Order: sequence, then structure tokens, then C-alpha cells
Amino acid sequence: MYSVALTDKQTLELQERKYPQITSDEILLKVHAIGVCGSDLRVYQHGDARVDFPRVIGHEIAGEVVDLGSNISRFQTGDRVTLGAHIPCGECVFCQKNEGHQCVEGKSMGYHVDGGFAEYVVLPKKFVENGSIQKIADTTSYELASLSEPFSCVLSGLYEVDVKPGENVVVYGAGAIGCMYIAALKKMGAAKVIAVQRSAPRRQKALENGADIVIDPNSADTAREIIEATQGLGTDTVIVTAPSTEVQKEALEVVKKTGKVLFFAGIKNVTEVPINTNHFIYKQLKVVGTHGAPRHLHIEAVKWIDEGLLDFSSFITHTFPLNETANAFETAESKEGLKCVVKPSE
Ligand SMILES: [Zn+2]
Ligand SMILES: [Zn+2]
Repeated sequence: MYSVALTDKQTLELQERKYPQITSDEILLKVHAIGVCGSDLRVYQHGDARVDFPRVIGHEIAGEVVDLGSNISRFQTGDRVTLGAHIPCGECVFCQKNEGHQCVEGKSMGYHVDGGFAEYVVLPKKFVENGSIQKIADTTSYELASLSEPFSCVLSGLYEVDVKPGENVVVYGAGAIGCMYIAALKKMGAAKVIAVQRSAPRRQKALENGADIVIDPNSADTAREIIEATQGLGTDTVIVTAPSTEVQKEALEVVKKTGKVLFFAGIKNVTEVPINTNHFIYKQLKVVGTHGAPRHLHIEAVKWIDEGLLDFSSFITHTFPLNETANAFETAESKEGLKCVVKPSE
């Protein structure tokens, strides 16, 4: 079988490997769709303490069960499934509270074990026991199903900031995640959604997904425009999906008093950001972060996709065969479109 392994920083290699043998507690999945995540790009560019080379990365996986261990009765061959990313230990204080995404072991598919940029992926015992493996509707394509993991993270953020109908929201960054936020916010009844995005094709996508105002920070004073668009008050909620410390600082300025700020995108190689903590105090803000998603939100994400509650196909702008995975990474990096999906079985 063929895999695309990260053999060093910025080096993806198509490798021929042995067809995987599984134990009685594992599942073998034929990968039909695997999305390129922003975090994959970060690992590709900078490496990651959790990733030893060579490693097949990728955690936004949808595929078909082709083999399963004798101890597994929940699934059968032919099942069409999509996966969460985390490999919860099942025993720590967080796993016991169904918060496996915060498991003390912090293990994930495509980091500690090989992930989805391959024809087949082995789902290890802990993942089968404690991870999220969800069957998808017959009418849901693998391509759309691969959005379940990133969309579960979007849902996690939305619940954290608890946006109410009628509120105004600004979303910084209109990549796949930003556009999912924009579309979901409009669906949930947000009044005015303002998107801030440098890349022109992504600004167009933000509009298509329902953004009411789209600001290009290359040519506008973003903070002033947001304040002006909200009667001088700022927005009820600010969601930062762009990995930028400047944007994180600006978020605290454009949020309304008593508003909420969500930091979604992690930033590589940054340990400290000078911020004016008086914003927290005198504006009485709630500033939260989210990372990953618990299993129940992955289940909910699959439901949104199965039921077509958003036009999920609009979030996928490029697809590639497995031998063009490097090209998929370059395209994702170029910010020309939104989600790039590799289809290893074609
Ligand atoms: Zn992801
Ligand atoms: Zn745990």
C-alpha cells in the first residue's frame, strides 16, 4: 500500500509499505478522504514534539472498515465511517468526564501513530475503545464526512462562546474553519457577521457563506470599520481563527463591553503576547480558548453533515489523489481556497 510520510520538516515522501496487519483489538480502515488541517501545515513546516519522523500525519479521516479484530463487535466490514482526532486514554480525570480531547496523554491520530495520508490506516486499541468512530449516512460522501473533525472543533468553539440569536460577531480568518464559523453563526441566528481576511478568494468565500461585511485588512483600518459597523460598540463576540498575535490583540479592542472572545488558532513559536489586561477587567470580558472537541460534539458534527444543515460542499475547494499530497499542502498553504482534501482510494 502507498503512504505519504513526513520524513523531515517540509519533506513529504510517497512510500510503498506493507499491507498492515491488525491485532484482535484494532480496525483497519481504507481511507477514502483525508483533509489537510491547519495543524498539519504547522507540523509540516515546523515539526512537532509529538511527531517522530517518518510519520504519516493527517487526522481528518473518512473511510471504510475493511478489517477488524475478533474482539470488536460494534463494527463490521463495509461500514462507512468518519473519525475524531483524539486517542483518549479512557482513565484520566478528563476522559472520565467525557473530555477525551483534554486527555492528560494528549495523543492524536497522525501525531503519535500514523494517520490518514495513506491508502489504509490502523485504528489502535485505545482509539477503538475511547476515540470517536462514527458511521455516516449512505447519502453522505466520504469527502464531506472528512469535514466532521474540523466541524466538531467549530461546534466546540461555538458552545464555548454561546452566541445568541441577534448578536453581532466578527470572525478573523475566513479559511475552512472561519467559513464554517460564518455559515454556522448565520444558521444559528447571528445578526451581523463580519469577516476579516487578507486573501481575496477567501473573502469571496466568506460572502458566499453568509458574511454580512467582509473587510480586507490590507486596505482598511479593520478595528475602526468594525467599531463603525456596530454603532461604536464593537461586536458581542469575536472569534479568532487566524494564527496571529496582532489579531489576538485587536480582538480585545473590537469586542463589545461584557462580550466574549474565542482564541481558536494556535500560534507556533510564540510563548508570550503583550496584551492590555485592562480590557479584560474594565470591559468585563470572557476570553476563552478551545482545542479539539469531545466525542459528543463529533457525533453532533456528523449529524449536521448527514442532515445537510450547512452547504458543507462549499468548504472543500480542492481535491487531490494521494501522490499529489505535497501539492495539496502547497495549495492549502497558498490560501487560494478553503479545505484541500486528498482521496487516497482513487
Ligand atoms: Zn484538523
Ligand atoms: Zn485520558
